[in-house]
Amino acid sequence: MPAGTASGTDSDTWEQQCPLCGQSNGCAVAQGLPAAQCWCMTAEIDPQALQRLAPAERGQRCICPACGRAEPAQPNPGD
Ligand SMILES: [Zn+2]
Repeated sequence: MPAGTASGTDSDTWEQQCPLCGQSNGCAVAQGLPAAQCWCMTAEIDPQALQRLAPAERGQRCICPACGRAEPAQPNPGD
């Protein structure tokens, strides 16, 4: 396929993507910032969200606030 046109939104690296939903995880560490600035330092992470991660993913990269928050942002029927 031709690779000519501008593709603006793929600037997130692998480690900046949520392993659960693929959206930007907003991880400060992945952006080269101090871990203390990461949203996860002040947010409450749903342990069940972490359980959904494959073992190989755990500790490798952050999930995003939407997936990590204790209250799911949207219902997920068919789980
Ligand atoms: Zn996510």
